[in-house]
Amino acid sequence: MDPCIFCRIAQGMEPSYPVFENKHVLAFLDNNPFTQGHTLVIPKRHYINMFDIDEEALEEVVSVVHLLVKRYEKIIGMSGVDILNLSGVDGQQTVYHFHIHIIPRFPADNLVSWIKSIPRVESDLKSTQKKLMSD
Ligand code: 5GP
Ligand code: ZN
Repeated sequence: MDPCIFCRIAQGMEPSYPVFENKHVLAFLDNNPFTQGHTLVIPKRHYINMFDIDEEALEEVVSVVHLLVKRYEKIIGMSGVDILNLSGVDGQQTVYHFHIHIIPRFPADNLVSWIKSIPRVESDLKSTQKKLMSD
């Protein structure tokens, strides 16, 4: 049996609540949602994370993320959305099959994004830019 839980879900070997499927991509509800409609969008093929996925597969996943955001805006009336990918140990990824979270946001949903709750670091932008632009 495939050890990857999301591969098993993609193959229909594990129960899930799918909300969209095409040839290469599956979207299903997160079983421990932050808000109503919290959805995971995955490539059916196994890629570990953002370091591993190829451009074509990423484009297919992102295109479904966009389609679902437009759909959810209409259907559940979300007034905002957080799109999230955690990659790698220090990215605090827990399931090592690439996925993008769609986290619908609503007025007063009481969800404080971690990204808003931490202090920023000092950074020399000029030297950072130089480093990031070198090959
Ligand atoms: P990560 O921390 O890797 O970005 O997110 C993994 C997400 O997958 C979590 O939000 C978690 O609730 C969800 N998850 C883990 N196992 C399962 C599962 O078996 N089924 C579903 N639907 N979601 C899962
Ligand atoms: Zn997998």
